[in-house]
Amino acid sequence: MLKIYNTLTRKKENFVPLKKNNVGLYTCGPTVYNYAHIGNLRSYVFEDILKRVLLFNKYKVKHVMNITDIDDKTIRASQEANQTLKKFTATYTLAFKEDAKKLNILSPGKYAPATNYIKPMTALTQKLIKNGFAYEKDGSVYFNIKKFKNYGKLARLNFSGMKAGARVDVDNYEKENPADFVLWKAWTPKDGPVFWQTPLGKGRPGWHIECSVISMKELGQPFDIHAGGVDLIFPHHENEIAQSEAALNKPFVKYWLHGEHLLVNNQKMAKSLNNFFTLRDLITRHFNPLAFRYLLLTTHYRSKLNFTLEALEAAERGLEHLHDVVRKLKQEKKINNKNREIDGDNKMGDKRYEIRDKFLEAINDDLDTPGALAIVWEAIKNNLIDYKTLLTFDKVLGLGLDKAKTKKTKIPVVVQKLLNARAIARAEKDWKESDRLREEIKKIEFEVQDSADGGQTVVEL
Ligand SMILES: [Zn+2]
Repeated sequence: MLKIYNTLTRKKENFVPLKKNNVGLYTCGPTVYNYAHIGNLRSYVFEDILKRVLLFNKYKVKHVMNITDIDDKTIRASQEANQTLKKFTATYTLAFKEDAKKLNILSPGKYAPATNYIKPMTALTQKLIKNGFAYEKDGSVYFNIKKFKNYGKLARLNFSGMKAGARVDVDNYEKENPADFVLWKAWTPKDGPVFWQTPLGKGRPGWHIECSVISMKELGQPFDIHAGGVDLIFPHHENEIAQSEAALNKPFVKYWLHGEHLLVNNQKMAKSLNNFFTLRDLITRHFNPLAFRYLLLTTHYRSKLNFTLEALEAAERGLEHLHDVVRKLKQEKKINNKNREIDGDNKMGDKRYEIRDKFLEAINDDLDTPGALAIVWEAIKNNLIDYKTLLTFDKVLGLGLDKAKTKKTKIPVVVQKLLNARAIARAEKDWKESDRLREEIKKIEFEVQDSADGGQTVVEL
């Protein structure tokens, strides 16, 4: 049974989907005004593990991720770059997808750019005005948090310091300042050419409304899991709940999952502190992106992770060691296939099931990746894991073990013996035997290539 920690209840709960085996998963995507930094990427890797664990448990997952291609930051940055918003955000959307791919993050079923949903965002805002949850002021529309009695239930807010009638126009603000937040922003000259002409007037949507609208449209309401980084709990996710539940008068999301911060040298990452890294920065320093993924897996997603370049180096050594093990096990598999050591296989069989159970138990315990990795290493140390099992585990870990490079492999003795026999058969023009041996060699996943002068070479398949 999969157990996950629900921020809404502050408890680890059994995961029971709303609809049998189908899981609706919504994860807040990037704001595409710059390259994602490694702190952002930690959230996306955590969400990827979540999705892989759901898939490993045989759930069907419908995953939607928004792309914030319209907000305060994207507008400002596109102006600084002297580019249209569309062109500017397209560049960073592509960069994000490339980074995700390098980290073996499975692509969501749907990437949803916010600007594709302006109409339904306008409609939802109108609905909230009609229901009395929102009001217009100077051409902008705000959500009246006092009207929504459950406001603050996710972030567990304390309203004692709240100023009566306070309003915020910015997309992001601190937990200490709950206030009526903006759903629709009236155009101002500093927005330049960025606006939509709608029944609400000339302007653009606020940030929070996009996730309510996209999830409602793509997954329905309620849906199963909404995930993001802890920094999104307030105001973003709190405001999403208010908008969605006030609009439809039914629950929004069953499980809320949040990944912790990444620190660099025990400090919050900031360009001014010179401790700011993107994935590209790590690649420039010749790190394998998957070493970063491995590093992330060594800490539980709900614990803070202190990133250092030394820790990344150690992770890279760990990953290389794991790749060495994979290569060794792959060779063993081939030789075992050849010798058909069925007895040995069976003896190992029971142990293998035990290890699979332990691995499943770890990942199903609120995505305990450090525990799962420890089980893998313990099994390797005690010679209790085979190639196939390790690759099965990699469906969750996503460390690219199936692509462990085989460049260091030597031709196994068994293949060499078959090649020798084949050379004799060919010298005797026994083509039937020669073909049979070719097939034998193929079974060990090597392919024979004959040269014009009668020589043979093999390549690993
Ligand atoms: Zn969001």
